[in-house]
Amino acid sequence: MNRGESRPADRTGVVPAPGAGGDGTRTPDDALVTVRELKTHFPIRRGLMRRTVGAIRAVDGVSFDVHAGETLGLVGESGSGKSTTARTILGLEPATAGSVVFGGEELTGASPGTLRAARREMQMIFQDPYASLNPRHTVRRIVREPLDIHGVGTPSAREARVDELLDLVGLEASHADRFPHEFSGGQRQRVGIARALATNPRLIVADEPISALDVSIQAQIVNLLADLRERLGLTYLFIAHDLSMVRYISDRVAVMYLGRIVEVGTSDEVFERPLHPYTRALIRSIPVADPERMATRVHVPVPGDIPSPANPPSGCRFHPRCPFADARCKSEDPVLRQVESGTRASAHVAACHHIERLLNEDPL
Ligand code: SF4
Repeated sequence: MNRGESRPADRTGVVPAPGAGGDGTRTPDDALVTVRELKTHFPIRRGLMRRTVGAIRAVDGVSFDVHAGETLGLVGESGSGKSTTARTILGLEPATAGSVVFGGEELTGASPGTLRAARREMQMIFQDPYASLNPRHTVRRIVREPLDIHGVGTPSAREARVDELLDLVGLEASHADRFPHEFSGGQRQRVGIARALATNPRLIVADEPISALDVSIQAQIVNLLADLRERLGLTYLFIAHDLSMVRYISDRVAVMYLGRIVEVGTSDEVFERPLHPYTRALIRSIPVADPERMATRVHVPVPGDIPSPANPPSGCRFHPRCPFADARCKSEDPVLRQVESGTRASAHVAACHHIERLLNEDPL
């Protein structure tokens, strides 16, 4: 398929390519996580009787795959639904509708036994290492806790595993008997990573894992995560608003806006040839180290704020902020579709009625 041609989306809004899987690139067997039409709505209750008068549609029909061994970056403004998507995949929020398949097992509506087994293989690294570690527990107890919860190994084997994990994340065995307040922010995040690795998970969901850290420490943690992925064969869902870090660590990137995915592609595709106007605006806002390049960049900030997910706009949800919006955009909801030619390794898709027109413009 040539650049400029469109392939229609399937029911999920994801474009199938011949002989390919859910995101049009690989067979379904490659996917460690398959998310289809996932919705997570939170009821709005009012009055003495707490009647339901509406819903916050935090995640509202999201479909994507996370392939085994890859890092999928999930980006978007605050309020776009990134963290709720991740929490729903992990079972920390109940799905309102849709499907999450992990390692071939459907998790939505699954039995407690299935969920428990899956949770051992899916772990999370939290944004704030200050808040996510119990200040009254030693590092040893914090890192060992997932092993205790899941009953992994004998007590002495768990102790040995704690030492092994601390070494893996660049801490010393002597750190095990200290408390979180005795560590720097970067060291605390290393403790959080050790805890996430304790049960030998296959999937790590990293929810803004560096945004609470000093800039000087952020690169160290991102490098550690990249190194661990190689050494342990991990798969990451990496959520962040720092797009430059997302580009560095991610194989593919999915862009979220107001509860929907609006663009998916390889890091190079999304950052070098972004298709969706929202993605373009996000990327234009990344500072560039080269002053000459920065001076030539057309900086058009996205006007206005992200609308309330309780009352999303009609048609394309981005239309109140989009400089290219027309009548069709206000009434017709665009689906993800492939425009550029997909390869075996990627398929670049975006949800916009006017991609063909935008392809003729300088994306950045
Ligand atoms: Fe803008 Fe219309 Fe495309 Fe939405 S569908 S991003 S409003 S041009």
